[in-house]
Amino acid sequence: MSGRLRSHGFKAVSVSTAPRDLIGGAPRLAGAWTAKVITLFPEAFPGVLGLSLTGKALEAGLWALETIDLRRFGEGRHRNVDDTPAGGGAGMVLRPDVLGRAIDEAQAGLQEAWPVICLSPRGRPFRQAMAQRWSAGPGVTLICGRFEGVDERVLQHYGIAEVSLGDFVLTGGEIAAQALIDATVRLIPRVLGNRASVEEESFAHGLLEHPQYTRPAVWKGRAVPDILLSGHHGQIASWRRSEAERLTKERRPDLWRAYCAERGRDPGGDREL
Ligand code: SAH
Repeated sequence: MSGRLRSHGFKAVSVSTAPRDLIGGAPRLAGAWTAKVITLFPEAFPGVLGLSLTGKALEAGLWALETIDLRRFGEGRHRNVDDTPAGGGAGMVLRPDVLGRAIDEAQAGLQEAWPVICLSPRGRPFRQAMAQRWSAGPGVTLICGRFEGVDERVLQHYGIAEVSLGDFVLTGGEIAAQALIDATVRLIPRVLGNRASVEEESFAHGLLEHPQYTRPAVWKGRAVPDILLSGHHGQIASWRRSEAERLTKERRPDLWRAYCAERGRDPGGDREL
């Protein structure tokens, strides 16, 4: 085996004329944004990332995915990757030497500053701003933990940032990695094609998104708000803004306070908009 398993995506320049290339005939680009994923379960990828818009963009070479099977770097005949926690306690911890070899392979030959991120419930909460920052770079290397997590020294040695998907504990980092990649890849130009509405979405302006409606105009006795059918673009925009503010205030006081602070507004004020 030649080392790294590249499950999908290509860096070589080639033009695809296959019908599946639905994003407007995008050529495969050299140096496409790349997610490198260190995992004990490479078969979990691309997973949902292989579907729909992210999947088509992967096929079209707008981004690339490389899985690095941690087992290959394991110790001994059984390719052991983990050991018992120093100081005792339940579970197993991923060894720093094993993980270090995988990280070294992932990072070999990279010229540009390339973030290495370990998915962890202890990490800083994943935010849209991180997805924006990473989508503008060349790619990311993600480490998927398992068991009790990874030896602290490997995080320190490589200056690895820990990022959490939220305040809950998953069994492994693979689902979290796919969520992080999805949120990042959809911000790469052309991945969403004509549906690029990322500037109006939740978090883009520090607010949650306004409610959305579509046909039919009345469903089970519930009507689409009149204003949305009025054709008055200015009024529609201000209705959406005020709904976005209402929802943010109700559901995310933290975001609401930050939003108000940025605009010199009183977060307690009930100003009608
Ligand atoms: N003992 C750890 C939990 C380990 S869960 C603790 O208490 O902090 C096993 C692995 O799942 C982690 O190493 C991490 O890679 C992944 N994981 C679990 N919850 C996660 C979350 N909320 N966000 C990101 N990754 C998570």
